[in-house]
Amino acid sequence: MSKHEIDIFKTGEFDLVKKYLDLVGAIVVVLDLKGNVNYINNYGANLLGYSVEQIIGKSWFDNFIPSRIRKELKDIFSKIIATNGGIKKYHYYENPILTKNGEEIVIAWNNILFESEDGRIIGTLSTGMNITEKKLIYAAKKSYEDKLSFLNYFATTLNSAKSIKEIYEHVIEGLTKTLGYEYAVILAVERNMLRIKTYRGLKPYIWEMPLNSQKGLTIKAVKTCRTIISNDTWNDKDYIEGVQGVRSELCVPIIVNDKVHGVIDVQSKKVNAFSEEDARLLEILAAHTATAISNLERQKSLEKQYQQLATLMKFSIEIIGTADVRARLQKVVEAINSLGWRRVVLSLRDENLEIRSQDDMITAGLSEEEKRFLWENRSPGTVWKERLSPAYEQYKIGQFYYLPYEDPFVRSTFAKSVLESRLSEEETWDWHPQDLLYAPLTLPDGRIVGILSIDDPVDGRRPTRYALAPLELFLTYAALAIENAQLIKQLNEAQNILKEYAADLENKVKERTKELLEAQEKLLRSQRLATIGEVAASVGHDLRNPLQVILYESFVLENIVEKIADKVDDKTLVTLKSHVQKIKEQINYMNRIVLDLQDYGRQIIIKTSKVDLNNLIMNILSTNKVPENIKVIVNIPSEFTIDADAESIKRVFTNIIINAFQAMPEGGTLTIYAEKEENKTKIYFKDTGIGIPKENLEKLFQPLFTTKAKGTGLGLAVCKRIVEAHNGTIEVESELGKGTKFIINLPVKS
Ligand code: ADP
Ligand code: MG
Repeated sequence: MSKHEIDIFKTGEFDLVKKYLDLVGAIVVVLDLKGNVNYINNYGANLLGYSVEQIIGKSWFDNFIPSRIRKELKDIFSKIIATNGGIKKYHYYENPILTKNGEEIVIAWNNILFESEDGRIIGTLSTGMNITEKKLIYAAKKSYEDKLSFLNYFATTLNSAKSIKEIYEHVIEGLTKTLGYEYAVILAVERNMLRIKTYRGLKPYIWEMPLNSQKGLTIKAVKTCRTIISNDTWNDKDYIEGVQGVRSELCVPIIVNDKVHGVIDVQSKKVNAFSEEDARLLEILAAHTATAISNLERQKSLEKQYQQLATLMKFSIEIIGTADVRARLQKVVEAINSLGWRRVVLSLRDENLEIRSQDDMITAGLSEEEKRFLWENRSPGTVWKERLSPAYEQYKIGQFYYLPYEDPFVRSTFAKSVLESRLSEEETWDWHPQDLLYAPLTLPDGRIVGILSIDDPVDGRRPTRYALAPLELFLTYAALAIENAQLIKQLNEAQNILKEYAADLENKVKERTKELLEAQEKLLRSQRLATIGEVAASVGHDLRNPLQVILYESFVLENIVEKIADKVDDKTLVTLKSHVQKIKEQINYMNRIVLDLQDYGRQIIIKTSKVDLNNLIMNILSTNKVPENIKVIVNIPSEFTIDADAESIKRVFTNIIINAFQAMPEGGTLTIYAEKEENKTKIYFKDTGIGIPKENLEKLFQPLFTTKAKGTGLGLAVCKRIVEAHNGTIEVESELGKGTKFIINLPVKS
């Protein structure tokens, strides 16, 4: 029905319309200008509880409108009439009508003017719908929405609570004061019990129940995690009477982070007191409560973490101030101890994860007996390697390994070696006294230098990533402390070496300077020797020819002296002869010098062969005259051979033998002997001569060193060069006044 169709009714149209209105269940009333009922349809009359006839002609307002609004409606009616057609639009009102039995029925009215065929206003036509039902629904909906908006407001209040107790109080106030529940209880799960934390209304006489109890609606709510409604408790097999006379109970679990924290419980002495709507409402309340509790717990754990960090800082400062690594680690274990772990063990480990001594086990909260037990039952490094291996990855929480005893593998593996817990089951929440928790102390390069194990948590709870985070900082600290200690040890060692070195430096400088000077001298000498060699060679060569000439001339002179022997007097002859003799001697002397010089200047070319030593020595002794006062003993086994260049080695032996003769001007013995050692032949020349003073021993083999008036100082220098050319060595032992021993070592050729 459009608005236009019923805008203004003509009486002629009315009959058509009223039939239709009857059908749709609408009340139709026509009032005359005085407000008396001119027409009412059957539906309307029924609604009011009268017959149509009983109503027609009666005053509408005086009879069928509740008295409290009668005047107000009469005034409106007068106004509508007074417009006299000026108001063409319909007017909408909601107002109740009064039925025969005194009830009020709310009607939504459309009021319009009613005209006669000729256009006169003859009254009002009102059509109305019964909206009592709708009104009730609306009111109910409104109260529900009000409750919801209360809950939302309530959530803010809850979240400002400073403690869980405060949250409980807010909830119970809301339940009773705002939501109007008479009896309310809040319960919380504590370990294995469900306990009443607060209540309003009747005083309960059961205050706590074990969670494993078979009965109890609140217990059922905890076990099932569901809302439980019982609207007839006396016939409910699960019901246990906790409060006297209760007939209905509604229990809603408070679920915090997937675990039942507690129960919101409302009760009534009426049967059927609680609807689904109540259930939904309390569920929302429970959800808000859970959020508030979870937020509070998070806040509490943040505060705890903050405090732990503060402790950490405090300890860190102490740790830094402690030089000794064990004292440092002691601080670390004490810090962990103070963070809520009753027993803490930190063990220093070597590269095989072995613990070396009981001193390397640093503990907090352990008795001497427990320490001994741990030391005696320590697991070998290989076991620890396994426990820290990827095989245990599934037990990892951050850097820690948490091995719950309920795990069958853990139970079977660690049954024996574990220190007995001091916690009783009541003291634990979800931590089992046999649970294991440990972590490696790892250096940045991955080396493990220790192991930390902690036990008996004060709060009796399983560790979470969150709770272990501050401990991880300590792990790093401890590892670094150990590394620092190692570094400091190394540093100290290095410093000591440095100190020793510094102390020794002066000596070292002296030594070095000496070496340098010697090296320099050696260099100069070798340069000088090279020059001497060259000079010797050329001088030797240059003097050779003139010397040959002089020698020849001396022979000629001698001959001439022989020829004129009979022509001069004896005295003159003797004089002449002695002059010639002196010339010859000097020539010999010069010749020796020239030979020495040539020897020294000559390039040494070695061609080794087996040389019979006895033959060689005999040859030398026969060509060089042995002074009469000197005895030569040759003690060489027959067929004793040496590997040598025969010519060169002959010059060596000759020089040494002649030196020995020269060293024994008063006579003596020269003993020549030889022996074979592994790879070498040793030939000894031992005289009983004047000996060599110590300071000369070093200089002996230098060219030009001589103590003799007519010496050249080249003999031994040549010897040394020749022997060395044979890859042999030459040694001297001498005692002043007693004699000298020269030893020639020559390698044996295989
Ligand atoms: P020279 O015989 O021309 O002096 P050498 O080089 O043969 O030169 O010997 C050098 C010096 O070594 C000798 O001047 C002498 O002082 C010392 N000397 C060598 N052999 C002996 C020896 N058997 N006993 C003592 N001194 C020796
Ligand atoms: Mg000599």
